[in-house]
Amino acid sequence: MVRNVLMMGPPGSGKGTQAVRLAERRGWAHISTGDMLRAAMAAGTELGSRVKDIVERGDLVPDDLMCDLVEQRLNEPDTENGFLLDGFPRTVEQAEGLMERMAESRKLDCVVLLRVADEVLIERALSRGRADDTEDTIRHRLEVYRRQTRPVLDFLDDRVRRVEIDGVGGIDEITVRIERALDAANPAEDRS
Ligand code: AMP
Repeated sequence: MVRNVLMMGPPGSGKGTQAVRLAERRGWAHISTGDMLRAAMAAGTELGSRVKDIVERGDLVPDDLMCDLVEQRLNEPDTENGFLLDGFPRTVEQAEGLMERMAESRKLDCVVLLRVADEVLIERALSRGRADDTEDTIRHRLEVYRRQTRPVLDFLDDRVRRVEIDGVGGIDEITVRIERALDAANPAEDRS
Protein backbone atom coordinates (compact mmCIF):
# COMPACT_ATOMS: atom_id res chain seq x y z
CA MET A 1 0.00 0.00 0.00
CA VAL A 2 1.08 3.55 -0.68
CA ARG A 3 1.31 5.24 2.72
CA ASN A 4 4.58 7.16 2.91
CA VAL A 5 4.08 10.06 0.58
CA LEU A 6 5.99 13.17 -0.43
CA MET A 7 3.88 16.07 -1.61
CA MET A 8 5.73 18.38 -4.00
CA GLY A 9 4.75 21.51 -5.81
CA PRO A 10 5.84 25.11 -6.12
CA PRO A 11 4.96 27.62 -3.40
CA GLY A 12 1.29 28.53 -3.81
CA SER A 13 0.39 25.26 -5.55
CA GLY A 14 -1.97 24.32 -2.72
CA LYS A 15 0.21 21.46 -1.57
CA GLY A 16 -0.16 22.48 2.09
CA THR A 17 -3.96 22.53 1.89
CA GLN A 18 -4.05 19.21 0.08
CA ALA A 19 -1.51 17.67 2.43
CA VAL A 20 -3.64 18.49 5.49
CA ARG A 21 -6.76 17.02 3.87
CA LEU A 22 -5.08 13.91 2.61
CA ALA A 23 -3.29 13.17 5.89
CA GLU A 24 -6.56 13.55 7.74
CA ARG A 25 -8.52 11.33 5.36
CA ARG A 26 -5.91 8.57 5.37
CA GLY A 27 -4.80 8.79 9.01
CA TRP A 28 -1.26 9.75 8.10
CA ALA A 29 1.02 12.10 10.05
CA HIS A 30 1.27 15.46 8.27
CA ILE A 31 4.86 16.69 8.41
CA SER A 32 5.15 20.26 7.21
CA THR A 33 8.64 21.65 7.75
CA GLY A 34 7.35 25.20 7.10
CA ASP A 35 4.80 24.76 9.92
CA MET A 36 7.48 23.30 12.20
CA LEU A 37 9.78 26.27 11.56
CA ARG A 38 6.99 28.84 12.00
CA ALA A 39 5.98 27.16 15.28
CA ALA A 40 9.59 27.31 16.49
CA MET A 41 9.77 31.01 15.52
CA ALA A 42 6.49 31.81 17.26
CA ALA A 43 7.61 29.98 20.41
CA GLY A 44 10.97 31.78 20.31
CA THR A 45 13.00 28.56 20.64
CA GLU A 46 16.70 28.41 19.81
CA LEU A 47 15.82 26.84 16.46
CA GLY A 48 13.27 29.60 15.87
CA SER A 49 15.76 32.40 16.38
CA ARG A 50 18.37 30.63 14.24
CA VAL A 51 16.04 30.38 11.24
CA LYS A 52 13.95 33.55 11.55
CA ASP A 53 15.93 35.80 9.16
CA ILE A 54 16.33 33.03 6.59
CA VAL A 55 12.62 32.19 6.53
CA GLU A 56 11.64 35.85 6.33
CA ARG A 57 13.88 36.30 3.28
CA GLY A 58 12.35 33.23 1.62
CA ASP A 59 15.73 31.49 1.53
CA LEU A 60 16.35 27.91 2.55
CA VAL A 61 17.34 26.84 6.05
CA PRO A 62 20.62 24.81 6.07
CA ASP A 63 20.25 21.20 4.97
CA ASP A 64 21.80 19.53 8.02
CA LEU A 65 19.46 21.39 10.32
CA MET A 66 16.42 20.37 8.24
CA CYS A 67 17.56 16.74 7.97
CA ASP A 68 17.96 16.48 11.76
CA LEU A 69 14.55 18.00 12.29
CA VAL A 70 12.79 15.61 9.89
CA GLU A 71 14.73 12.55 11.05
CA GLN A 72 13.57 13.21 14.61
CA ARG A 73 10.02 13.76 13.47
CA LEU A 74 9.95 10.53 11.43
CA ASN A 75 11.02 8.60 14.54
CA GLU A 76 7.85 9.58 16.34
CA PRO A 77 5.29 6.76 16.60
CA ASP A 78 2.47 8.58 14.77
CA THR A 79 4.35 8.09 11.48
CA GLU A 80 4.04 4.30 11.72
CA ASN A 81 0.77 4.15 9.79
CA GLY A 82 1.98 6.51 7.13
CA PHE A 83 3.13 10.07 6.73
CA LEU A 84 2.90 12.89 4.31
CA LEU A 85 5.99 15.05 3.87
CA ASP A 86 5.15 18.61 2.90
CA GLY A 87 7.96 21.08 2.14
CA PHE A 88 10.82 18.61 2.60
CA PRO A 89 13.12 17.62 0.87
CA ARG A 90 13.69 20.93 -0.89
CA THR A 91 17.25 20.30 -2.09
CA VAL A 92 19.04 17.28 -3.55
CA GLU A 93 21.21 17.23 -0.40
CA GLN A 94 18.10 16.95 1.76
CA ALA A 95 16.75 14.17 -0.47
CA GLU A 96 20.05 12.30 -0.13
CA GLY A 97 19.93 12.80 3.64
CA LEU A 98 16.41 11.47 3.73
CA MET A 99 17.28 8.38 1.67
CA GLU A 100 20.32 7.63 3.83
CA ARG A 101 18.78 8.15 7.22
CA MET A 102 15.27 6.86 6.67
CA ALA A 103 14.48 3.56 8.37
CA GLU A 104 13.23 0.79 6.07
CA SER A 105 9.70 1.22 7.43
CA ARG A 106 9.76 4.92 6.54
CA LYS A 107 10.78 4.55 2.91
CA LEU A 108 8.89 6.78 0.50
CA ASP A 109 6.28 5.01 -1.63
CA CYS A 110 5.18 7.84 -3.85
CA VAL A 111 5.87 11.45 -4.85
CA VAL A 112 2.79 13.53 -5.66
CA LEU A 113 3.60 16.55 -7.81
CA LEU A 114 1.00 19.32 -8.02
CA ARG A 115 1.33 21.30 -11.23
CA VAL A 116 0.20 24.94 -11.38
CA ALA A 117 1.18 27.74 -13.79
CA ASP A 118 3.32 30.62 -12.42
CA GLU A 119 0.71 33.40 -12.86
CA VAL A 120 -1.80 31.39 -10.83
CA LEU A 121 0.84 30.76 -8.17
CA ILE A 122 1.63 34.44 -7.65
CA GLU A 123 -2.04 35.38 -7.51
CA ARG A 124 -2.81 32.65 -4.98
CA ALA A 125 0.20 33.39 -2.79
CA LEU A 126 -0.65 37.09 -2.59
CA SER A 127 -4.16 36.29 -1.44
CA ARG A 128 -2.86 34.15 1.48
CA GLY A 129 -1.62 37.27 3.26
CA ARG A 130 1.12 35.52 5.25
CA ALA A 131 3.84 37.75 6.80
CA ASP A 132 6.52 36.31 4.47
CA ASP A 133 4.25 36.74 1.40
CA THR A 134 5.17 39.98 -0.35
CA GLU A 135 5.31 39.81 -4.14
CA ASP A 136 9.13 40.01 -4.09
CA THR A 137 9.40 37.20 -1.56
CA ILE A 138 6.97 35.08 -3.56
CA ARG A 139 8.96 35.56 -6.77
CA HIS A 140 12.11 34.79 -4.87
CA ARG A 141 10.60 31.58 -3.45
CA LEU A 142 9.50 30.53 -6.97
CA GLU A 143 13.05 31.11 -8.18
CA VAL A 144 14.47 29.12 -5.26
CA TYR A 145 12.00 26.34 -6.07
CA ARG A 146 13.06 26.23 -9.71
CA ARG A 147 16.76 26.30 -8.96
CA GLN A 148 16.96 24.06 -5.91
CA THR A 149 13.81 22.01 -5.55
CA ARG A 150 13.03 20.94 -9.14
CA PRO A 151 16.29 18.92 -9.22
CA VAL A 152 14.94 16.93 -6.25
CA LEU A 153 12.32 15.50 -8.62
CA ASP A 154 15.02 14.27 -11.00
CA PHE A 155 16.96 12.78 -8.10
CA LEU A 156 13.90 10.96 -6.78
CA ASP A 157 12.71 9.77 -10.20
CA ASP A 158 15.16 6.87 -10.17
CA ARG A 159 14.08 5.84 -6.69
CA VAL A 160 10.42 6.62 -6.04
CA ARG A 161 7.28 6.44 -8.15
CA ARG A 162 5.90 9.86 -9.16
CA VAL A 163 2.33 10.87 -9.93
CA GLU A 164 1.52 14.28 -11.41
CA ILE A 165 -1.70 16.08 -10.62
CA ASP A 166 -3.24 19.10 -12.31
CA GLY A 167 -3.36 21.53 -9.37
CA VAL A 168 -5.84 23.97 -10.93
CA GLY A 169 -9.46 23.50 -9.89
CA GLY A 170 -11.62 23.30 -6.79
CA ILE A 171 -10.05 22.08 -3.55
CA ASP A 172 -12.32 19.01 -3.33
CA GLU A 173 -11.80 18.19 -6.98
CA ILE A 174 -8.03 18.19 -6.54
CA THR A 175 -8.22 16.02 -3.42
CA VAL A 176 -10.22 13.49 -5.46
CA ARG A 177 -7.61 13.59 -8.23
CA ILE A 178 -4.81 12.93 -5.76
CA GLU A 179 -6.63 10.09 -4.00
CA ARG A 180 -7.45 8.39 -7.31
CA ALA A 181 -3.85 8.69 -8.42
CA LEU A 182 -2.59 7.26 -5.12
CA ASP A 183 -4.98 4.33 -5.33
CA ALA A 184 -3.91 3.66 -8.89
CA ALA A 185 -0.28 3.76 -7.72
CA ASN A 186 -0.83 0.89 -5.28
CA PRO A 187 1.11 -2.15 -6.45
CA ALA A 188 -1.06 -4.62 -8.40
CA GLU A 189 -0.85 -7.28 -5.64
CA ASP A 190 -2.52 -4.87 -3.16
CA ARG A 191 -5.40 -4.14 -5.49
CA SER A 192 -6.38 -7.67 -6.40
P1 AMP B 1 6.76 26.54 3.44
O1 AMP B 1 5.68 26.77 4.43
O2 AMP B 1 6.99 25.08 3.14
O3 AMP B 1 6.61 27.36 2.20
O4 AMP B 1 8.11 27.05 4.15
C1 AMP B 1 8.30 28.39 4.54
C2 AMP B 1 9.78 28.71 4.65
O5 AMP B 1 10.41 27.83 5.62
C3 AMP B 1 10.58 28.50 3.37
O6 AMP B 1 10.50 29.63 2.53
C4 AMP B 1 11.98 28.26 3.93
O7 AMP B 1 12.56 29.47 4.35
C5 AMP B 1 11.71 27.44 5.18
N1 AMP B 1 11.69 25.98 4.89
C6 AMP B 1 10.62 25.13 4.99
N2 AMP B 1 10.98 23.87 4.67
C7 AMP B 1 12.29 23.91 4.37
C8 AMP B 1 13.24 22.93 3.94
N3 AMP B 1 12.90 21.65 3.73
N4 AMP B 1 14.50 23.35 3.70
C9 AMP B 1 14.88 24.62 3.91
N5 AMP B 1 14.04 25.60 4.29
C10 AMP B 1 12.75 25.25 4.52
